Amino acid sequence: LDFLAQTDPTVADLINSELQRQRDHLELIASENFTSAAVLAAQGSVLTNKYAEGLPGKRYYGGCEYIDGVEQLAIDRAKQLFGAAHANVQPHSGAQANFAVFLTLLEPGDTIMGMDLSHGGHLTHGSPVNVSGKWFKVCHYGVSQETEKLDYDQIRELARQHRPKLLICGYSAYPRIIDFEKFRSIADEIGAYLLADIAHIAGLIASGLHPNPIPYCDVVTTTTHKTLRGPRGGLILTRDAELGKKLDKSVFPGSQGGPLEHVIAGKAVAFGEALKPEFKTYSAQVIENARALATQLQSRGFKIVSGGTDNHLMLVDLRSIGMTGKQADQLVSGVNITANKNTVPFDPESPFVTSGLRLGSPAMTTRGMGTAEFTAIGNIIADRLLRPEDESIAQACRQCVADLCDRFPLYPHLNIPVPA
Ligand code: PLP
Repeated sequence: LDFLAQTDPTVADLINSELQRQRDHLELIASENFTSAAVLAAQGSVLTNKYAEGLPGKRYYGGCEYIDGVEQLAIDRAKQLFGAAHANVQPHSGAQANFAVFLTLLEPGDTIMGMDLSHGGHLTHGSPVNVSGKWFKVCHYGVSQETEKLDYDQIRELARQHRPKLLICGYSAYPRIIDFEKFRSIADEIGAYLLADIAHIAGLIASGLHPNPIPYCDVVTTTTHKTLRGPRGGLILTRDAELGKKLDKSVFPGSQGGPLEHVIAGKAVAFGEALKPEFKTYSAQVIENARALATQLQSRGFKIVSGGTDNHLMLVDLRSIGMTGKQADQLVSGVNITANKNTVPFDPESPFVTSGLRLGSPAMTTRGMGTAEFTAIGNIIADRLLRPEDESIAQACRQCVADLCDRFPLYPHLNIPVPA
């Protein structure tokens, strides 16, 4: 950063401001986390200079001997972490990973079935604005209106009716355990491929704190930057090495060019970290902290979708206090808490307004917070949302946030140089 401050103070200034923002705010976006300094270092390295189309040992460019070592390490560690027979570490993002799966298993016009976006699914699982919804016929399942949890009988019924070629499980806003074995039995009944997109829960799975989909699913995709705490990117895993070779071809040359080897180095470092016992301790704390936050919000009168959480996230149903997600998002932002508005199942509001607020524990757990702090965070959020007009309460909330951020410093080794 010192060097950048001298050569391009404008960019350095913006990066510094972002670092300061990350330090000063309570980051409760369920899909975000703070990578280790080692991951940052690997990603900001000379590997960004290298073209390496192809795979380790089979490249289209010379000079890949060290790059091969990095990528092979990332592949081996990913396989070990999830117990997979094959891993492709090249997808630039979770969306790219899913696209490569579609390119491998489907033809335009085929039918896919995933969870409705408004119930917690992802855009890439058949939304009309995404290629998955433009190229394929889509049928969606949702959660049960009564329990707000997956209803496997209903999913089986829909699958029998629509006979998708690909069944997708794994979500962006589902707070409960997913039963991959049940999904397998549904897929088998109709002869469908089964894809688990574990973008959100990958770190919990790697830690053995959520069932592993690898034994049950044809393909597993994930992002590497959420609970897994690596650099921003994607990953494809499979139990079937032959299918793995086809997936490799769909990544390159099917849908990507040169891999981002500096990011792959960051993935290798993050997977190495996730293989250590400390990561399991971290993931267990992520779950405990989410529970503490949900419990505190419930005790202050908020309805939590499905009655609680088994993982790192929760959805607050704000209809219980007559507020929209958009309003709540703005109110917590005003006291330096970052979260996101989110639809709740059967939401009467538009996706831009919504009735929910999605909260997650991975990032602040990385900063070292435990259940006492998450209980305190629950109180800050409740104080702010229950008395939105009271500026003295807002001021007290800001002070509590600042105190928490001071007690749990972020990247203390990164000093902020003043641009020349
Ligand atoms: N799949 C799921 C379930 C996600 O939640 C996300 C991101 O939020 C993605 C895929 C897409 O990941 P990316 O933003 O890296 O493309």
